[in-house]
Amino acid sequence: MYDYLIVGAGLYGSVCARELTDAGKKVLVIDKRDHIAGNVYTEKVEGINVHKYGAHIFHTNDKRVWDYVQRFATFNRFTNSPVANYKGELYSLPFNMYTFNKMWGVVTPQEAAKKIEEQKAEAGITEPKNLEEQAISLVGRDIYEKLIKGYTEKQWGRDCTDLPAFIIKRLPVRLTFDNNYFNALYQGIPIGGYTKMVANMLEGIEVRTSVDYFANKSELDSEAAKVIYTGPIDAYFDYKLGTLEYRSVRFENELLAQDNFQGNAAVNYTDRETPWTRIIEHKWFEFGKDENGNDLPKTVISREYSSEWKLGDEPYYPVNDEKNGNLYQQYKDLAEKEDKVIFGGRLGEYKYYDMDQVIAAAFNKLAEL
Ligand code: UDP
Repeated sequence: MYDYLIVGAGLYGSVCARELTDAGKKVLVIDKRDHIAGNVYTEKVEGINVHKYGAHIFHTNDKRVWDYVQRFATFNRFTNSPVANYKGELYSLPFNMYTFNKMWGVVTPQEAAKKIEEQKAEAGITEPKNLEEQAISLVGRDIYEKLIKGYTEKQWGRDCTDLPAFIIKRLPVRLTFDNNYFNALYQGIPIGGYTKMVANMLEGIEVRTSVDYFANKSELDSEAAKVIYTGPIDAYFDYKLGTLEYRSVRFENELLAQDNFQGNAAVNYTDRETPWTRIIEHKWFEFGKDENGNDLPKTVISREYSSEWKLGDEPYYPVNDEKNGNLYQQYKDLAEKEDKVIFGGRLGEYKYYDMDQVIAAAFNKLAEL
């Protein structure tokens, strides 16, 4: 008999497993995939840690979370600085003085601020109601048209006028020459990959992979006093109130016999016509070197194609609009009636969580137990 059955060996599940085990509980972790680490899973190909379910860059302002992950990995000094490619024109991201200089030829912060103000005034937006209005208010129409509109419509499969403003607020806007994509105090990539980090978290804990919870639910449930479920909340209830919408991503991975494909970890294709949203060149998360500091002769790239999720696809991004928010609330009400089960993580809470937020959410939940 276990105290806790944890469904899902991603970050949320693994943090819970570690903490509960250290508190003296008996824990079993299961995952339907044949590996641990959920969507932060990395796999070594020709010495390169490939982020198999999309690029993950750890960044946080939460010192407690940062100190915690240090226990399981040493982080390198990677700083995310994606480049935007708009029909062959390259721009720095996030939106900063390099971007404004390239877009408008402005040199000083004052000139950049004036340009943004002019474009915002022209659009006549006082209170942004959606992503388009929010974007124009933040950076003006030119940047919206070239660097945001196409990318966002590909990423979300919806018009920018139908998307919530908060999505774009993830990105900083700065009147300084600073290409760091994040405002976080702490940032980096675990040396040796995320899989190793999660394996360290799960050390000494019973983990069974390739186990489908729903196929064996009553049997598994009967083995544990409590369940922590980190899968999609609507799947738990067999979609009985309807399916929540997710965006899924398809990755086209290629191993290339050249040492440098694009000179950066991430290049975003921000026009509407290019079918992929971005290309990740994984070796640059670790400066093009293996763990011993040797240069890697080959490279692995992943083209990301965003699509609407259908039953059977991998869910990646919750679509946090009003309609889905309401449906989620109904599922949450059902979840609250499941005395034995705790729902958590990006899929369990239907939230666009970053890794550090997932860890903090697990801490908060654990404190309630
Ligand atoms: N975004 C954009 N252009 C870019 C990068 C991002 O318009 O070149 C917008 C887009 O709407 C996206 C959001 O900003 O969904 C958040 O981007 P982020 O890179 O944080 O998304 P993630 O890495 O989680 O996919």
